[in-house]
Amino acid sequence: MSQSGIHHITAIAGPPARNVDFYTNTLGMRLVKKTVNFDDPGTYHLYYGDETGQPGTILTFFPWEHAAPGRVGIGETEETSFRIPQSAVGYWTHRLLEKGVAATREERRFGDTALVFKDPDGMRVALVAVPGIESETGWSNGVVPAESAVRGVHGVDLLLEKAAPTGRILTDVLGFEEIGRDGTTTRYRAAGAPFGAIVDLHEAGQFLRGQSGRGSVHHIAFRADEAGQAAMAERLRSEHGIRPTEQLDRNYFRSVYFREPGGVLFEIATDDPGFAIDEPVATLGEALKLPNNYEPFRSEIEATLPAIA
Ligand code: ZN
Repeated sequence: MSQSGIHHITAIAGPPARNVDFYTNTLGMRLVKKTVNFDDPGTYHLYYGDETGQPGTILTFFPWEHAAPGRVGIGETEETSFRIPQSAVGYWTHRLLEKGVAATREERRFGDTALVFKDPDGMRVALVAVPGIESETGWSNGVVPAESAVRGVHGVDLLLEKAAPTGRILTDVLGFEEIGRDGTTTRYRAAGAPFGAIVDLHEAGQFLRGQSGRGSVHHIAFRADEAGQAAMAERLRSEHGIRPTEQLDRNYFRSVYFREPGGVLFEIATDDPGFAIDEPVATLGEALKLPNNYEPFRSEIEATLPAIA
């Protein structure tokens, strides 16, 4: 499959200015799109990624100034991870410490070094050292040097009561294969995906269910082209008794959504048309972009949205 793996991850944050500061200044990612929540245009939808916002490098947030904190539990994403070059582990260890990032620790999983921490809203994030990616182009905003920059999404870890039903959706519908186990976690990989190739299923048995709020991941989107998306949706209906939504136009991609058997909201998003459809790559994320139906209300919307850097 030429387009496989994770397309983007969407999470809930608290105050937007703090979210922008953390992901652009501390982690050095690029704000590639500043738009509004299409279902709630009084709040932002912020997209972070690499220089051009390639699918597989994207983390997005719905920031609500006064959102209550969420709680990680069954049926939720436990951790979102990004790829860094092996040679950048020392740089990031020092940087996270220097920035006073909460709960930073180093772990080994599936043979790789991971720096695990919490973002300002309590969302668990990891930077995973991937051998051999030093030559992949990194983007620098002048704070984090290009050679140490995050190189797209590594993967997600889902906390589930049972892993197998979710695993079947990954392998039978979304183009992943099971590649190994580490304790109670089973790893799945999308063959050929340059970014976002990893989904870990952490089977926890009976445990508290997750509670959505700031610091919670809202959904995980997987990549497809138009034909692949239609085929995946059909397979969900015919083989798994799951009815995905109709295709929705998200301006930068077209999406269908479904709840996987473990309770996590999944999306299948097309690569097309991408983030350069309404502004040039050189100035991605600088202007507030609105879908056409909200354009007549731009001044009211701009007056409602809080200021961000
Ligand atoms: Zn999405």
